[in-house]
This record gives sequence, structure tokens and C-alpha cells, in this order.
Amino acid sequence: MTPNIAKVALPVPLDKQFDYLIKTGQSPVIGGRVKVPFGPKQLVGVVISLTDHSDFPMEQLKPITAVLDTAPLWSSPLFSLLTWASSYYQYPLGDTLANAMPTLLRKGREASAASLKMWQLTASGQEQAASTLSRAPRQQQVLQALRRGKVSHEDLLAEDINAAILSTVAKKGWIESVTEQPTLRPWQPDFAVTEEKPRLNEEQAIAIAAVNAQDAFGCYLLEGITGSGKTEVYLNVLEPILAAGKQALILVPEIGLTPQTINRFRRRFNVPLQTIHSGLNDNERMAAWLAGRDNQAGIIIGTRSALFTPFANLGIIIVDEEHDGSYKQQDTLRYHARDLAVMRASQERIPVVLGSATPALETLHNAKSGKYHHLTLSKRAGQAQAARHGVLDVKGLYLESGLSAPLIARMRTHLQAGNQVMLFLNRRGFSPAVICHECGWLAECKRCDAYYTFHQQSGELRCHHCATQRPMMHQCEQCGSTQLNAVGVGTEQLEQQLATLFPDYRTVRIDRDSTRRKGSLENYLEAIRNNEYQILIGTQMLAKGHHFPDVTLVALLDVDSALFCNDFRAPERLAQLFIQVAGRAGRASKPGEVVLQTHHPEHALLQALLYKGYDHFAQGALTERKQAWLPPFTYLALLRAEANDSALVEQFFQQVRGIFENSPVYSDETMVMGPNPAPLSRRAGRYRWQLLLQAPSRKTLQQWISIAKPAIQLLPLAKKIRWSIDVEPQDL
Ligand code: ADP
Ligand code: ZN
Ligand code: ZN
Repeated sequence: MTPNIAKVALPVPLDKQFDYLIKTGQSPVIGGRVKVPFGPKQLVGVVISLTDHSDFPMEQLKPITAVLDTAPLWSSPLFSLLTWASSYYQYPLGDTLANAMPTLLRKGREASAASLKMWQLTASGQEQAASTLSRAPRQQQVLQALRRGKVSHEDLLAEDINAAILSTVAKKGWIESVTEQPTLRPWQPDFAVTEEKPRLNEEQAIAIAAVNAQDAFGCYLLEGITGSGKTEVYLNVLEPILAAGKQALILVPEIGLTPQTINRFRRRFNVPLQTIHSGLNDNERMAAWLAGRDNQAGIIIGTRSALFTPFANLGIIIVDEEHDGSYKQQDTLRYHARDLAVMRASQERIPVVLGSATPALETLHNAKSGKYHHLTLSKRAGQAQAARHGVLDVKGLYLESGLSAPLIARMRTHLQAGNQVMLFLNRRGFSPAVICHECGWLAECKRCDAYYTFHQQSGELRCHHCATQRPMMHQCEQCGSTQLNAVGVGTEQLEQQLATLFPDYRTVRIDRDSTRRKGSLENYLEAIRNNEYQILIGTQMLAKGHHFPDVTLVALLDVDSALFCNDFRAPERLAQLFIQVAGRAGRASKPGEVVLQTHHPEHALLQALLYKGYDHFAQGALTERKQAWLPPFTYLALLRAEANDSALVEQFFQQVRGIFENSPVYSDETMVMGPNPAPLSRRAGRYRWQLLLQAPSRKTLQQWISIAKPAIQLLPLAKKIRWSIDVEPQDL
């Protein structure tokens, strides 16, 4: 058979593929891109199969406009991973594939290193450059820049030479442009270990030997507190893999928080290292993608989406801080990068290492049940001491902007000793709400079920949910009083209080607001390390991956809100934050101290965490989960839906519920919960509901959804309502 039809997955929200005619002379490949007509538009899609049969009459089929790739974009293990992810996370294949490629490829750009535009001096240009005649300084700058040889157009622009001046000088015949294909040079011949390595301790040696033992799939949980030498294990594990010419992929939660780690990889190996993160522009992203595929990078360190990078010869995947919430994508393809990393490693038949001081309960469960190998580092490498910690019962204590008097006294002691203090709070802005002192009225966003947050810097009220802003009101909208006060504690209010309490010390606030500008996070971190600030206020962002040797006191100001939360994962997250910050305090040889303010010091999980450690806490939490039939002992999927008419959404979900309950898969082991209003039941004027599915196994859950989905799509209401499925949701 000569296939004359290509089945193409297109980036459209439909769970199907489309048939196109192959014209003579066209040779599309499976896994390669084609440009095809779709309605009035031309779309870029991926060929999924080639056939000579279509369910549609041939004369209705349109021909492929252009074949864009002569080879598949992905290796077969990566392509099957993407296909698997599309089906597991219930997201259309065409959209999944489009998500997994750089924007430029999505737009149809050639999948190879772009040819570079270079500038060089002509013979007369050389004379001009050598002559001492004074001329226009900008032209002089161009000539000087090219004196030593060819320079790329991009590099010249980076030196503040603009395109107009280049064409002026070119018109004079002094310079000319040439195009050059960048030479692809493998890094392997230059491979070398470029620094002296520390002597490994026994646990490190055991861990490294286990991972490197065989050249096959295996999943390793590397559990060890901060400073126990996990990164050193990664470095040692990588060495023989790189030496064998294979590449390594390292996933991290946030790139801006790990510059020291990245530098350690750069220092250790003479291997090109590429980073991939949300700060890259389209060209950089494309270059990084190509660096992996064309073997121009030996190590790629990146956030979540780096998982989809193609590699010429991938040898290992490392997922650092595997418990981190940022590995879960919250929209479109709602994948979990840690889980997909394990899946990819198994497809590629390579080892995967999951590192954490506080493994996710799911991961711990997999390790305890023998699915993953469990490796532990129980001691701190180097001579740093473990931090002391204590609970501070704040019942009945007067809190000044969230600070109790005993805590303020501790802070003073640490600051006077020349150390730094770190305070954690989970709210942004000046305060979470504005309250009327006379009648108790609270300023509320009219579009959401949420209180406005007062931002002191801008003097505005901002709804954190729908992002609307309005000026601060002068009077209570209920009684007309002018006695409006901000209640609760936000980072800005705390900051102001600290300036009053500790006028001799400088305070810095690290949160999404203060680090919005590109590079500002890095600058702050540098300033903190240089001791330009003594008091650090942060949200979880500050807890991730920092190494501040002079921080000796850490306080969690707001433990209770995490402890008493509807989301069954909230205590786990609190425990992870606590261990993370306890691990940072008192590095180097300074003893550290962690203080938790709570109204409930007797809470069982808190007690386990504080006095017996994370593993005991995890054990207790896992037991609770098992009794409550919660993950990892069951599997969840969350359906979310929203529309302007609340009754309509509820009605839709009642019908959906009916579909799930009438399924052949439905049994007394499966459960449908809801429909319930979402935690934030109104956002931007739309009503949001959710429906939770629970099943005893992944397979049951998948079957259940796969059978139900086509029936849901046929519901007339499904077209009026925006709805989605989140398989294994992280936030309930
Ligand atoms: P983690 O990644 O678990 O936080 P690191 O690998 O960063 O731990 O190790 C913490 C510190 O101890 C680093 O400064 C590292 O260079 C050092 N270190 C790690 N392993 C050893 C070792 N075996 N001997 C001496 N120092 C070590
Ligand atoms: Zn009032
Ligand atoms: Zn709002």
C-alpha cells in the first residue's frame, strides 16, 4: 500500500485526528509536522499515522499544504510518553504535542539551528579601520567591533550597535554580511572533571553505587535533609554517565532559586550546560530545545516543562525537591512533571533519582511499598549543626502585626549577635482585608466571594482572585464611618512594624510582588548573602533552595491556617515548609533556631513533626490518609466547571454525576462527590463548581473517565459551560 492519507493531530480542543491527502512528491513522516488547511486557517499539526483509508469520501479531503519535517520531532520513547500523557491527563493529543514544542516550532519554523547572520569587514573596511582618520563615532564603533573578525548580528545588537548604523556602514562598502550555519560540535571529546571532589561519606557512596549499578530503568528516592549531600550525590552519579557520552536532565522547582546548584554543575564538569525556564524568550527556548536534541548540551537544568526536551542520548533524569508543588501544571495539560519523569525514564530505560528532604507522601508510599528504591542520607555533610526548634503558644498573647513579645525578644538576641532572621507568612500585601472598626463590615470584591487586600505601596485594594483593583474607600459602605482599619497581617504591614521595632536593621521582603521584575530575585538573594539586610520576610518562595549561612532564627508566624484547612494536603505542605526552613537555619557552623507560633501546640501531627521528625509525621499522615480513603490509597480526578449562571453549572454537574453513576465501572469502590461550589465559588463574575471522582486504582479511574467523557461532550449544556478534568489534582 502506498499511503495517500495522513492522520494529523491539530492544536484544537477536539479528541480526534484529521485526514489530509498527501500530494505526489510530498513525504510526510509520523511524528513530523505538516501545515494543513483547517476551516479558513492554516494550522501546524503533527502526523500521527499514514494510511490509504479514510472514513470520509476522498473528494472531501483537502491536501496537505506543506510538509515541514523530514524526520520525526521526537524520539520514539518521548513520542510515546507524550501520547501516554495526553490520554492519562485527558487532554487532546494535538494540544499536548503543541504544548511540548517551542513556540517557534508551533509556528512552523524549521527544526534546525537557524543560520546565523554574521558581519565582517571588507578590504576597504579593513583600511578604514586601520586608518586614524576621525569619523562618526558610531561608524567607528562598528569598524572597531569587527576588527578581530566576524561577529554575529545578534552580538552586535547586544553591544548597542543598531541595525540602521550597520546598513549605513554596509552601503559605504566597508562591511558585508554573510550567513553561516553554526557548526555542531559534540561535547564528549572534551569531557573532564574539572574540580577536586570531596571524600564521600558511606551513605553517599552507597547511594551512588545503587543508582549507577545498572544501565536500566530504576526509580530512586534520595531522602536527605538539606546539607546532607544530595547534590554531591547527583554530581557523582552524573560523572560516569557523562563520561559514557550520555546526557543528563535535571529538573528543579524554580531556576532563579538555584544559581549555586547550577554553578556547582558548571564547576564540576567541562560540559556545556543549558538552562530552561519561563524567563526564556522564543529564540532562547528554541535554542535550548535544539541543544538537547542535537547533542550541544551535556546537562540540561530546567523547570517543569524541560521534561519535554528531546535528547540525542539521555542517560539519567534527576528531579530535585520532588515534593514541590510547582511540578504540577495547573492548566491545559495538567501533568505532574515528577510522575512523568518517572514514566519517561521507564520509556527511555534509564535511572531516575527523586531527591528531597521531605518526600511527597505519594513518593514515600511508593518507596515503602518497594516500587522505588529508598536511599537515605541521614547526616549533614560538613560540620553544620541541626537547628533547634520550639513551639510558641500564642493563645491570649498580644500580637503586634503577627509577632508575639517572646518572638520579638528572640529576634533581638539573634540580631544583636550579628545574625539574620527569617520570618514566614503566607499572605501577600499590606493586609488581607479592610474592616470597619464601628460596624464590622468587610470590604469585599463584588465579583468574587473574596475580601479585598489592601496594598500599602500603591494605596489600592486588590482582589487576589480576579485581579481587579480599586482605590481605597474613605467610608464604610454599610454605616458610613471613616474608621476603616486593615486587619490581619500581611507582609507589608509586618515590614512596617519591623521598621518601628528594629530601626537599626534593614528588612527585605521576598514574594511575588517584590520579585516581579526579571532578575530582581537574584539581586535580592545576592544582597541577603552580602548581609545588606538582616530581617528577611517571605512566603514559600523564600523557603525553596536557599543557602543563607547567617540566618540563625526562622519563625513561622501563621501555622494554624495551614493546620486547619479543607485541603487534605495542607498539613503535608506545612511540614515540608518547616523541615525546609529548619534545614536552612544554622548552616555553616552557627547553631540555628526555628520558632512556630500557633494556638494549637498539642496538635498530633505537629507534635510528631517537631519531636520525632518528618518520617514520623509522614507515617502518621499516611495512616490518616489510608483511614480516610485518600491518595495515595485511592485515585482522584477533579472536574471543574464555571459559567455566569450558577444554576446552569450545578444542573450540568448533576447530569455529569448521572453519567458517572450509570457507568458500568461504577461500584461500591468508586465515589462521586459533589457537585460542590469550588473553594473560591465566584471568580471574575463566573460561578465555579466542582465534582470529585474517587476510584480504587488508576485503571478504574481512567476507564471510568474514558467511558463518560464522550457522553459528557454530547450534553447540550457542555457547550455553554467551560469545564475541565484534572487527573490527580494537587489543590482541592
Ligand atoms: P544537599 O544537596 O543535600 O543540600 P549538598 O550536596 O549541597 O547537600 O552538600 C552540603 C554541603 O556539604 C556542600 O557544601 C557540599 O559541598 C558539602 N559536601 C557534600 N558532601 C560532602 C562530603 N562527602 N564531604 C565533605 N563535604 C561534602
Ligand atoms: Zn461600618
Ligand atoms: Zn475579585
